[in-house]
Amino acid sequence: MSATATRVLVLNSGSSSVKYQLLDMGAEPDGGSAAGTRLAVGLVERIGEESSRLVHTPLAAGGETRETEGAMADHEAALKAVAAELAADGLGLDSPELAAIGHRVVHGGLKFTAPTVIDDAVLAEIERLVPVAPLHNPANITGIRTARALRPDLPQVAVFDTAFHTTMPEHAARYAIDVATADAHRIRRYGFHGTSHAYVSRKTAELLGKDPSEVNVIVLHLGNGASASAVAGGRCVDTSMGLTPLEGLVMGTRSGDIDAAVTFHLKRVAGMSTDEIDELLNKKSGLIGLCGDNDMREIRRRIDEGDERARLAFDIYIHRLKKYIGAYSAVLGKVDAVAFTAGVGENAAPVREAAVAGLEEMGLAVDATLNAVRSGEPRLISPDYARVAVAVVPTDEELEIAQQTYALVNA
Ligand code: AMP
Repeated sequence: MSATATRVLVLNSGSSSVKYQLLDMGAEPDGGSAAGTRLAVGLVERIGEESSRLVHTPLAAGGETRETEGAMADHEAALKAVAAELAADGLGLDSPELAAIGHRVVHGGLKFTAPTVIDDAVLAEIERLVPVAPLHNPANITGIRTARALRPDLPQVAVFDTAFHTTMPEHAARYAIDVATADAHRIRRYGFHGTSHAYVSRKTAELLGKDPSEVNVIVLHLGNGASASAVAGGRCVDTSMGLTPLEGLVMGTRSGDIDAAVTFHLKRVAGMSTDEIDELLNKKSGLIGLCGDNDMREIRRRIDEGDERARLAFDIYIHRLKKYIGAYSAVLGKVDAVAFTAGVGENAAPVREAAVAGLEEMGLAVDATLNAVRSGEPRLISPDYARVAVAVVPTDEELEIAQQTYALVNA
């Protein structure tokens, strides 16, 4: 790698989309810009359809957002279009300043406990995990293959959503089912959103002026997908998602925790197929199943208008959240902070207020004035007297992926 190579391209490849960010990880010698400066961000949607769309914003050049519409048949076409946009801003993939490409990979199983430089063997292992992540890993693999073909000489790094959770003890990670069956099919709790939980738990420690090894944090990642984690001294000891991202909290479209026998019932009594049940629980449940909306802003607006269905959906969402705060307080024994993050966690003050309401005996409280502040910065929202800090910590998965990627290729 060239001494001047300080840029990292972060790719998050979905089945029909690619999100990307180009970051500069080298701090300016004059202190002009910090490591992690975003040079460009963008998104390609509807890959494989006739109306694919690329939205590109060259932040470095202070440029305006550019939108391109037109058929992009596959990820290769999409990535080539992204490369062309970057090149138009003088940020092309052939630049000697590009140090590495960091890929978000959803499932790393038990094998990948840390970011990993991708070679053929690593790619084969990620493919071996497709049966446990059929919705996610194939798209990540396509993104990796395409990027490798474009820049075969460049280090490419996989950063796994599951990696942060591989420290979970067996008693938290195992389901109480027949061990031989579980092991034969690699059925266990892996957890997801690990990059976010890692970043936010570390930032929360920073906010408290402590080293991550000194604090116990409950991280509540509340986006359209949502998960909680219990982090003891910087290590994850439990998390709410399981074999797949279906388990745990009530989410935008996923049910979260549910009696597994509901699926037998839906099959035997309601006559639904496995695929229909899968779709019901992953796409038509959670907030959208309960009230027809999965956007918390809309749900709050409806509640303000007296809508009972929206109210009940909100109450179910909060009830589940409270159960996890209680459970993880017990798992950790001592809690230093509860950190809210992601779209709902960062923006929805009523969710934060309701989630800790009535938990004063557990040392949890929210200051109404602090909770109402809107800011993109990490901040405390608990009153001074509260035993447990309550924080809002904006997540930044792309920065975390870029940092891990850059650290690895410079190691
Ligand atoms: P994410 O998956 O982290 O991008 O979060 C997306 C979700 O965040 C949306 O579906 C909304 O429910 C929620 N959200 C975003 N902005 C706001 C806001 N200003 N107030 C309440 N909820 C919000």
